Amino acid sequence: MQSACPGESLKTNSRPLALKSRPLIELAEKYGANNYHPLPVVVATAKGVWVKDVEGKKYMDMLSAYSALNQGHCHPKIIKALASQAKKATLTSRAFHNDQMGPFLKELCDLAGFDKALPMNSGAEAVETAVKTARKWGYLKKGIPRDKAEIIVAANNFHGRTITVISFSTEEQYRKDFGPLTTGFKVIAFGDAEALRRAITPNTAAFLVEPSQCEAGILMPRPGYFKEVRAICKEAGILLMLDEIQTGLGRTGKMFAFEHEGVKPDVLILGKALGAGVLPISAVLANNEIMGLYKPGDHGSTFGGNPLACAVARTALKVIIEERLCQKAEESGAYLMVKLRTLKSPHIKEIRGRGLIVGIDLHASAGGARKFCEKLMEEGVLCKETHEHVIRLAPPLNITKKELDWAFERVKKVLSDPIQNSKFKIQN
Ligand SMILES: *Cc1c(COP(=O)(O)O)cnc(C)c1O
Repeated sequence: MQSACPGESLKTNSRPLALKSRPLIELAEKYGANNYHPLPVVVATAKGVWVKDVEGKKYMDMLSAYSALNQGHCHPKIIKALASQAKKATLTSRAFHNDQMGPFLKELCDLAGFDKALPMNSGAEAVETAVKTARKWGYLKKGIPRDKAEIIVAANNFHGRTITVISFSTEEQYRKDFGPLTTGFKVIAFGDAEALRRAITPNTAAFLVEPSQCEAGILMPRPGYFKEVRAICKEAGILLMLDEIQTGLGRTGKMFAFEHEGVKPDVLILGKALGAGVLPISAVLANNEIMGLYKPGDHGSTFGGNPLACAVARTALKVIIEERLCQKAEESGAYLMVKLRTLKSPHIKEIRGRGLIVGIDLHASAGGARKFCEKLMEEGVLCKETHEHVIRLAPPLNITKKELDWAFERVKKVLSDPIQNSKFKIQN
């Protein structure tokens, strides 16, 4: 929504903002495109699971930048790797080699069990790279006629915000006003293996899907779905491409969510926590028959594979392993879900999740999750609604039991209140 005069949109947040926050929010609103609707908190410093705003108020971060901060804010080992690499070399471009990229790619491939990886920066870029990879494979290996390749995707997917990626979104707002869109995608229902079987044609190159749909409200497929999907893709000779940008690297209690399903994708897409919330770095992994098809000049990125991000990512992976973050996510997630399920709240429809990504699905009568997130912010817990009715809880994976208890008490307080009137008028 456009505001007529500077700071006008601030009136929608009637909370008397403290002295330092207000001008900073005004600057962001005046000079920034209005493409987000953040909670009115201005973070200045962060450490582990905690952040502090410009007034010095402490909050627990239960969002972790949509799982980019699995290792926690400003992890000392990762910051040390950043600082030490920053003094040596930050960017070489791919015109030359650097001494961090090779070791990073090997460590990542060994960890995930693939032959090769292609480094990019953002998650959306990695998804674009996966789409290009699948098409190239379709033409060169499968013999799909030129420009006829199809990629199947799931309804309610979230894979990022570039033109091609939104072209296969089913979210009206993501697409409208951004056409003409990229063609070559087919949408089927998530969790329906038969629909996949029916959608495959001789021109299908791949099925691109998230192991669980986090942005859509932490939606888990039924058990056995991915086993069937794996078998169908293999039988039809199409690639299974898993977007693990949010579910990967420990979040669900395993290094990769595909381990829960007992399947291995042909193409794996990673991002977010690969850079530990320090730098953007993403990657697409596959075996030689697929990733080996790239030739110099086919694809690239100026910052892709830069030594600074690679040094950070190497340490980011090391921290996940050394600090047993997968096990911690599994234990803490189970602990939190058991506690949440004891809540007697008129608003809760369902608690669901896996590892430390937990959704509290609210009844429509609760009037939306946003106001509960605003209440939680006042109580010192930062989280964000996903879609209308789901509160997503996804703290850094090294959160302690004590900290989880602390957060739970606040969630309990906010959700037990039968009358919920937002202090903030909601704009959109
Ligand atoms: C966040 C996310 C993306 C996009 O990543 P960006 O770094 O924001 O471009 C893609 N897929 C999934 C599943 C994500 O959660």
